[in-house]
Amino acid sequence: MGIGEGLEKDGTSLSQIPTYVTAVPNGTEKGLYMAVDLGGTNFRVCSIQLNGDTTFNLTFSKVAIPKELMVAKTAQELFAFLAKQIELFLQTHHEEHFEKHVRRRLTQSASDGFKDEHVFRLGFTFSFPVQQIGINKGNLIRWTKGFDIPDAIGKDVCALLQDEIDKLHLPVKVAALVNDTVGTLMARSYSSPGKTGAVLGAIFGTGTNGAYVEKLANVKKPLSGEYDKSTGEMVINTEWGSFDNQLNVLPNTTWDIALDKQSVNPGIQMYEKRVSGMFLGEILRLVIIDLLKNKDVSFFRDDNSSSNDWKSTTNIAPASGIYAQWGLDTSIMSVAAADNTPELSTLRQSLESDLHVYSPAIDDAQAFKAISAAIVRRSARLSAVAIAAIVLQTGKLTDPESAGEPIDIGVDGSLVEHYPYFRDMIYEALRIVDGIGEEGAKRIRIGIAKDGSGVGAALIALVAAGMEKSKSTADVLGELRSASHAEHLKTVPEKTGDN
Ligand code: ADP
Ligand code: MG
Repeated sequence: MGIGEGLEKDGTSLSQIPTYVTAVPNGTEKGLYMAVDLGGTNFRVCSIQLNGDTTFNLTFSKVAIPKELMVAKTAQELFAFLAKQIELFLQTHHEEHFEKHVRRRLTQSASDGFKDEHVFRLGFTFSFPVQQIGINKGNLIRWTKGFDIPDAIGKDVCALLQDEIDKLHLPVKVAALVNDTVGTLMARSYSSPGKTGAVLGAIFGTGTNGAYVEKLANVKKPLSGEYDKSTGEMVINTEWGSFDNQLNVLPNTTWDIALDKQSVNPGIQMYEKRVSGMFLGEILRLVIIDLLKNKDVSFFRDDNSSSNDWKSTTNIAPASGIYAQWGLDTSIMSVAAADNTPELSTLRQSLESDLHVYSPAIDDAQAFKAISAAIVRRSARLSAVAIAAIVLQTGKLTDPESAGEPIDIGVDGSLVEHYPYFRDMIYEALRIVDGIGEEGAKRIRIGIAKDGSGVGAALIALVAAGMEKSKSTADVLGELRSASHAEHLKTVPEKTGDN
């Protein structure tokens, strides 16, 4: 899928963005960190206590991103909203810390603000393509997933967030910029069973993307930033959502074409538009619209009440999401898949409550379920293509040194987490991929990295805190791994820097 090409030069179908993260954690890391996650649908704020024994304690809050901010005039409008959520979170969950330091800040005349040890290190999960130029510095390449704020393109998203945090005088430092895929990979490595770290972190949420551990020797394009060479590896953010924008191999139906045409970024993210949560409901909606227009098909329509098992006639309210772009949320496709009742009563209830389709007949519900299942099955099988490509790229299936070891993959996102059998459908497809087969598929272990982006961002903030003391990723992680340093570790965030 062009994995190699993207490692050699820029401007290819797969961006293959170097992340400068050169090691994955192993579960012994400790400390209290903050993390925020701008996903595409939601904004999450959390604090994470890493306990150093593969466990953690997480406190979080989540808000839907207001639609108007996704297409705001200026980046500042969006980032001011994000900073405000961080303030609310601190007030609610870290009141003591918040009060103490905000009051201190306001009563101190010193302009330099907080004492450094009282500043929360924050990992910023930003799930859009970014050219990363440092551990807490990265310029936005393009928006995806329905966002469109031209003013932000090319700007450092960490600086945009830090500026708004500073305006609110919050004791928070944006310490690390994290792609959600990298966060998922880190989180899975922290918490996964056994001693082998994960090789791939993958997202199937609003959008889709993956980050994996690549051999440095294979990264042929120039690396500008500082990084540690000792591990011989680097995490690469594939940005596989834009795989095959040319449509050489991707399936392309009339509904795919219509969806793309009406999107804010036609011709871009073509793989993502066939795979991820934002788009599956819209594909289904476009199919439904076609069926409703077709006079030869009776779908959500009855000649009279005798052809409807409710002995009524189906009505679609004019305000139904079926008639509005993005009006059909993919989550109802999970409801359809999970409903195995003989009369599909749960699905029919959701059709009424979520989509305002009243008295849907059983055959309508069955058709809805069948079409929906086909769309998601295609998505899962396409997901398997990306996963298989990365597994093959790592060479672990044939490398005698890793013989018998599981090939661990962390996944996150509502689609893979909540759609019934999504992972099973991925495995079904993996088994028939050349070079993987039954045996290979057995070794591939796909696990949900629950709260992956939060924990992952905390882990990278920890690495960043260590780097402030001018240590490399590997040094910090290596040090963290040695039990004799356990006490020292606890204080890593407090001891850092004196700026
Ligand atoms: P983000 O991408 O913002 O991190 P999520 O991982 O929660 O957020 O993904 C949100 C996407 O998942 C939305 O496009 C939504 O339609 C879809 N989604 C939410 N719940 C479900 C569900 N139960 N089944 C399938 N898709 C879902
Ligand atoms: Mg996410």
